Amino acid sequence: MKESKDDLMDIKKTHDIGTLSPSMKGQKVVVGGWVEDLRELGKLTFLTLRDVTGVSQIVVAGTENLQQVKDLTRQSVVQITGAVQESKARDFAYEIKAEKVEILSRAIHPLPIDPLGRLESGIDNRLNARALDLRNQKTASIFKIRHNTLLCIRKVLTDRGFLEVNTPKIIGSASEGGANLFSLKYFDKQAYLAQSPQLYKEQLTLGLERIFEISSFYRAEKSHTVRHLTEFTSVDIESAFMDYTDVMEILEQLIVSVFEHVEKTCIQEQKNLGIEIRKPKTPFDRVTYRQAIEELGKQGLALSFGDDLLDSHLRKLGEIHPGFYFLTEWPLKLKPFYIHEKEDDIEVSKSFDLQYGYLELSSGGRRLHDPVKIKARLLEQGLDPVQFEDHLRAFDWGMPPHSGWGLGLDRLMTVLTQIDNVREVVLYPRDPERLFP
Ligand code: ATP
Ligand code: MN
Repeated sequence: MKESKDDLMDIKKTHDIGTLSPSMKGQKVVVGGWVEDLRELGKLTFLTLRDVTGVSQIVVAGTENLQQVKDLTRQSVVQITGAVQESKARDFAYEIKAEKVEILSRAIHPLPIDPLGRLESGIDNRLNARALDLRNQKTASIFKIRHNTLLCIRKVLTDRGFLEVNTPKIIGSASEGGANLFSLKYFDKQAYLAQSPQLYKEQLTLGLERIFEISSFYRAEKSHTVRHLTEFTSVDIESAFMDYTDVMEILEQLIVSVFEHVEKTCIQEQKNLGIEIRKPKTPFDRVTYRQAIEELGKQGLALSFGDDLLDSHLRKLGEIHPGFYFLTEWPLKLKPFYIHEKEDDIEVSKSFDLQYGYLELSSGGRRLHDPVKIKARLLEQGLDPVQFEDHLRAFDWGMPPHSGWGLGLDRLMTVLTQIDNVREVVLYPRDPERLFP
């Protein structure tokens, strides 16, 4: 069988652009990337070539090579074989004199967006062309920061003795009650997409004590806000033998570690985004629900114990407490059935939200581990204990007291990158209107 040109050509690089330097003068290299810019200047053509590690100038000369780049479009993918040489260009410390130019893939113009951002595109156009949008260095920086955030979370929790687990996303019963589940046909049965790992992570404390999960979860809510998606990434922990205040400490330290890690590791990314990531002030304020409604009362927003805090209330609290703070000890009746009451104040729960100004980042608390109490709470909330049989069985097998939280990773990313819209920090966001690409 005759091999095509594609098969014959070696598409490998000898170097990533980011590893090249002026000290390599005279060295022959093979680089590959996409053409950000090209300028003809008499008998020379200058290409600005970018790969994921950096950007370099390529000087193309000679009839054959010039012919190759004659109709070359921006964003096309090329392979350059050439030698490193000094550059006179202001923006480049060195350049590559091309000996051979191979066009690996042509970009067909007009492109849907300009990834250099010279022509501004709206978020919808950019999301519709997300793959291309990632050639914009600002966009790419968001996802490098996201990667480093995840790396740090895994390291911190692992160091604290938490084991990473994966729980099912296809579930057979509406685990937390909730009308906000997506349902799907599962052969001849009805199934749902998990809205959180809550029940599984609680069960897992029985045998594994300290666990965490980082995964997508699903909420069938028609929320049109900059903080809600129908598919979002949650970081969840659950730990046996810890009270709610213990897991609050872990959450606070985790947030601080993430900020410190990203500040150090994502220097160029901060420049690209025009931001400075700085370690937040600690300890985070701890404001009880009772204090919060008192503060709101003084601002003319009268609330009684038991009233939920609406967006308008959280906005006002966010003005009083800018930055990170914990909102603790919510009325028990506002909390899900699995949340533990305070022993000395049974209307109040051992619960907390982590806020960043008005924005809720995390909810957590101490959980009930007594199945009798759980059944009573299920009935109180109009839920059927029979639906929870599988879950409740585990509570008869020696369930340790436990606490945990769920942290919205996408929302945390908006705080880190100082970008309002959660859609910007998710590769292919899903919201009530957006199901493609
Ligand atoms: P909200 O009141 O803001 O809708 P929630 O209280 O319903 O959030 P929880 O069930 O407490 O959310 O989930 C834990 C965390 O997961 C939230 O604090 C948030 O950071 C994140 N989260 C929840 N729902 C979404 C969503 N639809 N989109 C993005 N993140 C979400
Ligand atoms: Mn919540």
